[in-house]
Amino acid sequence: MESTVENSSEINLGKLLAGKRGVVFGVANDHSLAWSCSRLANLAGAELAFSYQAPTLERRVRPLAESINSKFIEQCDLSDDNQVDAFFTKLGKSWPSIDFIIHAVAFANKEDLEGRFVDTTRKGFSLALDVSAYTLTSVCKYALPYMKDNGGSIVTLSYYGAEKVIPNYNVMGVAKAALEASVRYLASDLGGHNIRVNAISAGPVRTLAAMGISGFRDMLKYVEQRTPLKRNVQADEVGKSALYFLSDLASGVTGEVLHVDCGYSIVGM
Ligand code: NAD
Repeated sequence: MESTVENSSEINLGKLLAGKRGVVFGVANDHSLAWSCSRLANLAGAELAFSYQAPTLERRVRPLAESINSKFIEQCDLSDDNQVDAFFTKLGKSWPSIDFIIHAVAFANKEDLEGRFVDTTRKGFSLALDVSAYTLTSVCKYALPYMKDNGGSIVTLSYYGAEKVIPNYNVMGVAKAALEASVRYLASDLGGHNIRVNAISAGPVRTLAAMGISGFRDMLKYVEQRTPLKRNVQADEVGKSALYFLSDLASGVTGEVLHVDCGYSIVGM
């Protein structure tokens, strides 16, 4: 049976995140992995605040956020520390505390997601690493004063290209490696505040960002034929694993990278 958000709600998500407040970075539209995580978190009882990268995205993000009763929807370009600071300062005036954060943000120039990695420019490298890796650290830094009370959970999204060479993924693979290392360092720094930091390494899912990778459709076909589960992972399956990290079910887990990829990463040949 296909797993959808709707039948996920039949698994009684009930009170898993009841009373918790979470911030979401990375919704561009209803295909975004961040949106699957958000919908499921809301079904599990969480109240959510949303950001959108640029004014042009507001018309897509606002209706989605309002459909799950979100009241706080603000623009925030994570490559600008002033905007990150202003976002959390404003949210801090509405919410007494933040319990969790979903970071599902990445960007690289299109020309750096095709051809040879060796041709990556210094500028393209810096951009990809800044947006796709450093933004997690920036978010943690500015969120920290508002994550009080009982600690919290931060989840980011990575990909197998951090560990192995994937054609055309190139600079994004290097950025994801930096992101996964950041998860471990941040988990170590924030553990004393009882804040957990983890990553989900998701299999390929058709989204706006994914379609920017040259040959992405072929990647989907290739992976589908080779995963132990004989299919590609679905967005809401990524969302369900995010719920695990965000909830107390994962209270003893931090600094971890969980593969949610229908098993693709375990196959040697
Ligand atoms: P998406 O295009 O829906 O989401 C990417 C988001 O990043 C967008 O909302 C975009 O606005 C945001 N973003 C980019 N630059 C930003 C900036 N400067 N400030 C704030 N936000 C910015 O695509 P997605 O596939 O849902 O991507 C979400 C995350 O999942 C990314 O980190 C991606 O690398 C990761 N991921 C995706 C797949 C996949 O196959 N789709 C697989 C593994 C990991």
